Amino acid sequence: MEIVLNRLTKVFVTKNKQETRAVDNLDIVIPSGKLVGLLGPSGCGKTTTLFMIAGLHKPTSGRILFGNEDVTKLTADKRGIGLVFQNYALYPHMTVRQNIMFPLENLKVDYDEAVARVHEMAKLVGIEDQLDKKPGELSGGQQQRVAIARALVKKPRVLLLDEPLSNLDARLRLQTREEIKRIQRETGITTIFVTHDQEEAMSISDEIVVMEKGVLQQRDKPQEVYYNPENLFVAKFLGSPAINVLRGEIKQNKLYINGEYFADKKAKDGQYEVGMRPENFKVSESGVSVKVVDVDIIGRDTIIRFQLGDQTARALVDSETVESIKNIKLAIKDEKILLFDIETGKVVKTK
Ligand code: ADP
Ligand code: MG
Repeated sequence: MEIVLNRLTKVFVTKNKQETRAVDNLDIVIPSGKLVGLLGPSGCGKTTTLFMIAGLHKPTSGRILFGNEDVTKLTADKRGIGLVFQNYALYPHMTVRQNIMFPLENLKVDYDEAVARVHEMAKLVGIEDQLDKKPGELSGGQQQRVAIARALVKKPRVLLLDEPLSNLDARLRLQTREEIKRIQRETGITTIFVTHDQEEAMSISDEIVVMEKGVLQQRDKPQEVYYNPENLFVAKFLGSPAINVLRGEIKQNKLYINGEYFADKKAKDGQYEVGMRPENFKVSESGVSVKVVDVDIIGRDTIIRFQLGDQTARALVDSETVESIKNIKLAIKDEKILLFDIETGKVVKTK
C-alpha cells in the first residue's frame, strides 16, 4: 500500500493564539511494501505526521492517500492502521494472548479464526511461549513484540511505529530493531518507523525521510542521505562522530582553510562551508601536516582532533596507520569533500 502525503500541513493554535507550524507542506511518497524511517530531532513534527496518517490528528490542510484512496477524511478506525508506541501501551491486567486478541474482539472476528491469528502473530514476533504471561512479567523487548503482534493481528494496510525502541536498553534496542526489520520483510507491510536516532534510521530503513521544523529536508536511500546530503542540516544530523564543517575557500581547484592549503577540490572559486566526514581522512605521507590537539585511541579506530587555523576538526583513522602522534599528515580525496552555500546551506554540486 503506497502512502502519499500531499502538501500535508498541521498548525497547532494554543489558547493564547500562539501558532506552531508542526508540519509544513509535506510532500512525500512512501513506497508500497517498504520500511521508511522518518528521522529528525525532537519537536520536528514526526509524531504529528504519523498521527495525521493514522487519523488521530486532523490536518490543517493537504491530503493523505493510501494507494488511490483519499483517506484524509476517514476516521482512524476506518484506515486499517497498526500503531506501535514507545511505551508499548499494553493492558497490564490481561495476558499476552488477551492483549493480542483484543483488537479482534472489537472487529467481531470469529473465535477460532481469532485464536489462529493470535498464534500466527505470536510466532511471527517470536513470543509464542509467552502467551499466558502478563505484560509485567516480560522484558521491555518482549513487551514491544507483543505490541507489534497486537498492531498486526488486524491485518492493517500500514504499520506505524513511533520511537518503538526508545524505552529499551542498548542491547535490546539493537536486537529488537533487527526483529522489526525481519518482521517487516516477512509481512511486506508498508511501514513508517519514526526515530530521532540517525544510526537506528540508517540501519533499519529502505529509505529515510529527514525532517526539521516541520519541513522535509531530504528523502532517499540511507547511503544517499549520508554521502550526498542536500544541505548542511542533513549533513550534520547524520553521522557519528559528526561531519566537520569548516569555513574555507576554493582557489584554482585548491581548498584553503584559514588561508592555508589543505586539499585539492575541483569547484568554482569562492567561499564555502566545507563538509568533511571524519572517516574520510587518511593518514598519508602525501597529506598535509596538521596541528594535533588531542588523540583518542579507541581500539581499532583513533580519533585525531586537529587545528586548522582557528578551527578544529576530527579525523577518524585506522589506529595502525598512526605511527607518530607528533607528526601526523592527513589527506582527503577531492570527491569526499562537500561544499555548501554559505547563505542557504544547500549543497553545491561539483560534478
Ligand atoms: P516530534 O515527534 O518530532 O518530536 P511533534 O510532532 O510531537 O514532534 O511536535 C512538533 C511540534 O508541534 C512541536 O513544536 C510541538 O511542541 C508541537 N505540538 C505537538 N503536538 C501539539 C499539540 N497537541 N498542541 C500544540 N502543539 C503541539
Ligand atoms: Mg514524537
